[in-house]
Amino acid sequence: MVHDHEDPEDGDIVASPPKIPVPEEVADAIRTLIRWAGDDPGREGLLDTPQRVARAWKEYCAGYEEDPAHHLSRVFEEVGGYDDIVLLNGIPFQSHCEHHMAPITGKASIAYLPKDRVVGISKLARVLHGFARRLQVQERLTAQVADCIWERLQPQGVAVVIEATHGCMTARGVRTPGVGMVTSRMMGVFRDDERSRQEVLKLMGY
Ligand SMILES: [Zn+2]
Repeated sequence: MVHDHEDPEDGDIVASPPKIPVPEEVADAIRTLIRWAGDDPGREGLLDTPQRVARAWKEYCAGYEEDPAHHLSRVFEEVGGYDDIVLLNGIPFQSHCEHHMAPITGKASIAYLPKDRVVGISKLARVLHGFARRLQVQERLTAQVADCIWERLQPQGVAVVIEATHGCMTARGVRTPGVGMVTSRMMGVFRDDERSRQEVLKLMGY
């Protein structure tokens, strides 16, 4: 689902979703962008570029085709008395900033303290990628991953820390390569209990 709509019951007019362009319209737009950049889209090396860019953007934004929460629908309630932190540390991911459509490249550490449900560990990475493969801001990505796990697994705590560099900072504007931005969201015991928070941050290497 790409676009959020107002609930029709609260009286607002529901706009119809913008129509999906046909591939030739996308190619035209990319040729325009190439001309805007100062090059000639008719030049040999650029002839197939519009189609390639169009396909690439479908991949970069594949998250729109899925509901990331779906990855957490298969839970295991038999946890064998395990009541400690589950952590997937330093998951590499790629996203694109919604302000410049420039790459965001980073690593996420995702932890939760189960109550009675656990999931296959790879599912946490799938949730991350489902939200990352969209036009994003890092703060929202962090919150969406944490909220999704919180709602689906109803654990005692969730901690998400994301560290990323933004192409729009490193390649343009202030041009500061190597500067990472860190965002975090702590929920449940990781928010309310200082010792639990310190413990999970230490496990993550912070
Ligand atoms: Zn940006």
